[in-house]
Amino acid sequence: MSMFKRSNTKNSAESQAVLAELALKNIHDGVIITDKSGVIQFINPAAVTMTECGSADKAIGLDYGLLLKLETKEGRELSETENPLIQAMNTNQPLENCQVCLIASQSDKRIPICISVLPVDGLGQNRIITFRNITKELAEEGEQTEFISTASHEMRTPVATIDGYLSLALNPQTATIDARAQGYLTAAQKASKHLGKLFQDLLDVTKLDDGKIKPHFEPVEMNDLVRSISSDFIPRAEEAKLNFTFGSNNSINFGENRQMHQVVYGFVDTNFMREIMDNLIENAIKYTPAGGSIYVNVRGDGDRVLINVTDTGIGISADDLGHIFQKFYRADNSDTRTIGGTGLGLYLVKQRAEAMGGRVWAESAFGEGSTFFVSLPRITSDEYEKRMIVVRNQQIQAQQQTRPPQPQVSAAPVQPVTQPAASSAQSPAPVAAQSVPIPPAQPTSPIPQVSPPPSPAPPVQSPPAVPPTPQPIQYQTNNNLNGVQQ
Ligand code: ADP
Repeated sequence: MSMFKRSNTKNSAESQAVLAELALKNIHDGVIITDKSGVIQFINPAAVTMTECGSADKAIGLDYGLLLKLETKEGRELSETENPLIQAMNTNQPLENCQVCLIASQSDKRIPICISVLPVDGLGQNRIITFRNITKELAEEGEQTEFISTASHEMRTPVATIDGYLSLALNPQTATIDARAQGYLTAAQKASKHLGKLFQDLLDVTKLDDGKIKPHFEPVEMNDLVRSISSDFIPRAEEAKLNFTFGSNNSINFGENRQMHQVVYGFVDTNFMREIMDNLIENAIKYTPAGGSIYVNVRGDGDRVLINVTDTGIGISADDLGHIFQKFYRADNSDTRTIGGTGLGLYLVKQRAEAMGGRVWAESAFGEGSTFFVSLPRITSDEYEKRMIVVRNQQIQAQQQTRPPQPQVSAAPVQPVTQPAASSAQSPAPVAAQSVPIPPAQPTSPIPQVSPPPSPAPPVQSPPAVPPTPQPIQYQTNNNLNGVQQ
């Protein structure tokens, strides 16, 4: 007979409650139940241990935020808008298996956890928060990642060699083969190229997982950044006979007809942004038949930057839509079967976006095209200016550190220098506010000037000029921003 089988005795409800309590007391997962305003009503022993709150009695009646202090897996502080737990609690939305770090209140220890939130209509509106220590899982995953990374790295070299020899065999100037052999070797080369791409994608994906790369955040104007990346795809889109547009509505083209765009600032890793956009636009091109259209757009949405890549291509079925961001997942239908791919691109997009505090999702209807969204934290123009000054000061410091030792100025008489001062005698020119290449001619430049450019140094008399030490600049508000700030 099942343990939970209903008995007819009037004590059955009580015994069920006892069993439920027994389970909650003994499971290794932390369980916290709050009321609708987030005040803790129940906490199980595993949650008491993990949060280091002392005892259930001390925790009950407190706000959940006092116990569940989170940061990212990578150890980055989470702002309120980035914090998935706060977002789920505030919006009464479920949260499923989100990986973050819990900061234990007494020891300040970081515990990697997988956290979920379930809103329920219990006694009033309650939220059930469950979380699991995933230290062991991550260690195992780390070993796997290390293995995949090493194997991919080692296998890339022989695959490149095979590809090289196949190219030689297929080149009429270096080899003579009959038509049948050419067919076989062409097929072999296609497969070796696929293998090469697979190893490269695997390496890219594992680099972040095994900590070989970390996001390097920079303040940037997102419209300029995304437009610059997107414009690299114009030739590919033209070749595929696709109409490729960037802008907030379909009338703005990459060509002459540029309009003023909304200025939206982000704090992102520009390499990660390139990888995200490359994968999304490459997919849009790959999965859209000739004659179709692709639109890329960036806009501010409250405290988020929202990027979308929309295409009028083959679309994704509802069944596949829930899986496409998983590693190696490829929708399998007559359209996709003939289109090559590794199933790792969207996983990489998700991974990179999440490492920057972002989120990705897709909307699509089979046969009717797709839209991929990337939402990232947005910063205000004031924050952008402040961060730009930090960047600029770091660059000045780096310049100072790499400068060769200054020559000693001798007291002996020195011949007058008749030439104007060499450029090294000037203060370093202000570093361009944006470190990413931006294509020309937006009607407005959203980049604030943090300091006036230095005036050319006057001709220097002896002794030879010792370059003045550049001074870090102080923050000052500059409202003279062009563009439209929402
Ligand atoms: P792949 O290398 O197979 O393109 P991705 O991870 O980039 O791998 O994409 C996973 C799957 O999602 C693809 O195999 C494809 O079925 C589907 N997909 C991705 N982007 C699009 C798109 N723009 N239109 C239709 N299907 C898409």
